[in-house]
Amino acid sequence: MIDIKKFDEIKKTSAKSFNEQKALIKKVMAGRVIQCNTCGTTIKLVLPEQSESPGLYCSKGCTDITLDFEL
Ligand SMILES: [Zn+2]
Repeated sequence: MIDIKKFDEIKKTSAKSFNEQKALIKKVMAGRVIQCNTCGTTIKLVLPEQSESPGLYCSKGCTDITLDFEL
């Protein structure tokens, strides 16, 4: 059985983290140096021409945001 209230909470949480990810992507793409919240290493932007899975990654792998590039 689905608990509707919980389901709403999950949706809100993922929307929030989606917005956070978008904000993070914008900062990194603007050339800002951003550290991973978890391990403190610098988050690197991997572009589509560099890898088949472009995204934002820290060196330890705890930040792992795959991007759909539509540039
Ligand atoms: Zn990390």
